[in-house]
Amino acid sequence: MNTNAAATPSASAASVSDGPSAAHGRISRRIGAIAPSATLAVDAKAKELKAAGEPVIGFGAGEPDFPTPEHIVRAAQEAAADPRNHRYSPTAGLPELKAAIVRATERTDGVVVDPAQVLVTNGGKQSVYQTFATLLDPGDEVILPAPYWTTYPEAIRLAGAREVEVLAGADQGYIPTIDQLEAARTPATRAVVLCSPSNPTGAVMTREQITELGRWALEHGMWVVSDEIYQHLTYDGAEFVSVLEAVPELADTCVLLNGVAKTYAMTGWRVGWTIGPRDVIAAASNLQSHLTSNVSNVPQRAAIAALDGPQDAVDEMRAAFDRRRRAIVDKLSGIDGFRVPTPLGAFYAFPDVTAVIGREVAGRPIGSSADLATVILEEAQVAAVPGEAFGAPGHLRFSYALADAELAEGIDRVAALMAR
Ligand code: PMP
Repeated sequence: MNTNAAATPSASAASVSDGPSAAHGRISRRIGAIAPSATLAVDAKAKELKAAGEPVIGFGAGEPDFPTPEHIVRAAQEAAADPRNHRYSPTAGLPELKAAIVRATERTDGVVVDPAQVLVTNGGKQSVYQTFATLLDPGDEVILPAPYWTTYPEAIRLAGAREVEVLAGADQGYIPTIDQLEAARTPATRAVVLCSPSNPTGAVMTREQITELGRWALEHGMWVVSDEIYQHLTYDGAEFVSVLEAVPELADTCVLLNGVAKTYAMTGWRVGWTIGPRDVIAAASNLQSHLTSNVSNVPQRAAIAALDGPQDAVDEMRAAFDRRRRAIVDKLSGIDGFRVPTPLGAFYAFPDVTAVIGREVAGRPIGSSADLATVILEEAQVAAVPGEAFGAPGHLRFSYALADAELAEGIDRVAALMAR
């Protein structure tokens, strides 16, 4: 019998105000251990300051600043009026969208899959979570190259597994060597994560690097979880290469994660997908059938228009990102203490700022990149995300998905602050 005083309404109310819920076991250890998304937190703080009238320029958000292309929005408007879309649909996705994803995968990845290997998810984020939940058991280890996107370690831990970080710094263009990965491998290793083009660094692995990594994973029988969400955003002739195309023998031990968010300026629409072996997709669909069921039908119809329709808007957005990329790299490189490898993909610049740590900026001591991000936000009204969020203290992430004039002014403000 539960003799806990918290069973009475008044005591229960007291315990809410009294304090640390974890100590009372109110929140599970599993969920209580999740860190809030640092990137969303920086964005929220910047928006809060902006709403309070501060002239904040935000380099925090990982999303295109363009509206979704018109023909995609029109497809959604038509879909909303069609009663076919007002009902539950298959958990794994509308057959028409799965077919469009199969075509897009062949076009972009050079990989042929069938619709039973596709699971449509509520954004790429749900793909990440479900993939680790489906592949991992407690005690398993996942090799996670750092700097990494902030969601991976949380999703790995939610599956009861553990991430083993392999840090590759600016000196190696943020790309780990096979020797570094091999040093992290143990009998418990189940998977390795690959994200090229990378969030947060913008690094793009060459065909040789991807092939080498894929062969190494194959040799040791580990899963490759490859996040390809930035596949259309590469610059300076850098080529996107899918690990599954480079090493087709991985067909049975590779999962690809993708979505429309970054390519088509559709972050708010929440459509992503997982591609993998049939058994993995069937198991992950079972999980999704209890979690969220089908992704909202209207955004699924919009995603069909995105994948099957004209791609001119993608080219235009890529050209704008490229222009901003050059501008931001040029300006950041001129700041004393910032070291900026040229990003070849995605829409992030990731300066190494370790030289600034230990200095004072605007009379304030800088003990970490988190301190530097705070001082830059408070003194220059510029929001960037500290490297701590990506397993890479000593760095800052600047998203350059913002208007050219704002970008220029924002980095000029940082430069002026650092020169004070
Ligand atoms: N993967 C990476 C590397 C990302 O940066 C993001 C978005 N920040 C996602 C996946 C998820 O995107 P979404 O859930 O918006 O589709």
